[in-house]
Amino acid sequence: MRFGVVVLGLSLTACGSSEPALAFPTGNEDSPADSRPDDEEGSRPDDEDDRRTTGPDDRTDAGGTTEAPSASGPSDGGTETSPALTTTTEGEPNVPGPPRVLLFSRTAGFRHDSIPTAVAALQSLGLSRGWTVEATEDPTWFSAQTLARFDVAVWLMTTGDVLDANQQAAFEAFVRAGGGYVGVHSATDTEYDWPWYGALVGAYFLGHPPGTPRANLVVERKDHPSTEMLPSVWTRTDEWYSFQANPRANVEVLVSIDEQTYGVAELAMGDHPMAWFHEYEGGRAFYTALGHTNESYVEPEYLAHIAGAVEWAAATN
Ligand SMILES: [Zn+2]
Repeated sequence: MRFGVVVLGLSLTACGSSEPALAFPTGNEDSPADSRPDDEEGSRPDDEDDRRTTGPDDRTDAGGTTEAPSASGPSDGGTETSPALTTTTEGEPNVPGPPRVLLFSRTAGFRHDSIPTAVAALQSLGLSRGWTVEATEDPTWFSAQTLARFDVAVWLMTTGDVLDANQQAAFEAFVRAGGGYVGVHSATDTEYDWPWYGALVGAYFLGHPPGTPRANLVVERKDHPSTEMLPSVWTRTDEWYSFQANPRANVEVLVSIDEQTYGVAELAMGDHPMAWFHEYEGGRAFYTALGHTNESYVEPEYLAHIAGAVEWAAATN
């Protein structure tokens, strides 16, 4: 059974099974997952059914958001940095400056035990690439004053309801003023009741098959800093999310997954995007479903994927 996973040396710490159960309907607001007796995927019988019960409660992504013309004035700083590095997408880079990166990893639902690894890896990545990086789990950093110190906010394996109404408003203003957003893995398992966020991230988590199987990702586009260095078929192990709705109509898909290469079972989406970007209300938004495991954060390709995403999102339009 799933001890095969152990043999492979993969992380068992799956957010696994518990994610959906937790994160969803109300749930355990503040059950710091650490208290959970079974953080392990293996502790669960193979009932993806559970997961699915959390089901699609028809939040159609994106659709209805109002397009606020990105007119909001020059944000205090949020707007002027451009990626001293790769800028392949539109927009004239402004004054180049090192990206100022906020790592936000607050969890109000399932807590990935790879968070410390991920934070350390991104701090080190930032150091090597000239970013300034600050990490917090304190939602009060989502104020106009504090957000003004950053060009991009990385929601790094957040879960559940992490911001209150005022903090949400501050983050919306940050994005409308040209701020960037990068969502990693369970960033789609976050803020289900905040439609603006749902449209920003592009989709909400539905479930995943057990464990961290090996699968083929299809890199559909390499004209983006987050994918230009990747192989066309990117084979790796991870926990593979399915989403409540296909975001393709609302975002630019970069990477999808070949469902024939792992046991997607009843979570099949057919067309199954896994990483994408879009411009949203004046800011730039990127999401990747990858990155559940500790091992992800030492994979050169994965780190390059994240680095490209952060630098792209930190730039202004
Ligand atoms: Zn996970």
